[in-house]
Amino acid sequence: MQKLLIGTHNKGKLKEYQEMFAALPLELVGLDEVGLAGFEAEEPADTFAENALLKARAYAEAAGMVALGDDSGLCVVALGGAPGVYSARYAGKDATDAQRRAKLLGELAHFAGERAAYFMCVTVVYDPHSGQTIEGVGRVDGQIALAESNGGYGFGYDPIFIPDGHSVTFGDLPPAVKHPMSHRGRALEDLRPRLLAWFSP
Ligand code: IMP
Repeated sequence: MQKLLIGTHNKGKLKEYQEMFAALPLELVGLDEVGLAGFEAEEPADTFAENALLKARAYAEAAGMVALGDDSGLCVVALGGAPGVYSARYAGKDATDAQRRAKLLGELAHFAGERAAYFMCVTVVYDPHSGQTIEGVGRVDGQIALAESNGGYGFGYDPIFIPDGHSVTFGDLPPAVKHPMSHRGRALEDLRPRLLAWFSP
């Protein structure tokens, strides 16, 4: 089976890719398996697409194998799209997911009726030998909850995001419900035909 390096240190993202790739004929490899546990790709750009490509390329070149890079984040309409590409660093570099969620709920306390938000994800797969690149894009719209609700699923901002068509947060929705509608699931769906064509024998 062909191998694909999943270029992320985020355990939540890694788990989701493992779940979503389960049905695809690819062997996923983690950064720690190729000696890159201590290597962090930079994400200096201000678009998801540029950062996803930079991450995919950096991990692929460091490992010498085809790698996937993911850049994603939560965009809040009342905050002009913030935290967006800065979602991971929203409450400072070493903050926890809980601190980021608390900061966002605090900011939005002044916007009682304007809770619209969306998650974005760009997923790039890059071959360091040929330079071949494919990109998938996904988005899911919803609302920021008035308070956290965490049924034990998901990660990051999931406990404060209610996807459209549901009355509970992503933190309350199991993977089988989240993935088909999520930004990451849709980015992978967008990528899937080209990924399968690329890796077909
Ligand atoms: P980055 O893509 O590594 O820059 O980080 C993305 C940020 O957005 C992290 O803080 C994640 O927790 C958050 N994020 C991305 N996707 C999701 C998701 O599916 N659920 C919850 N938070 C997410």
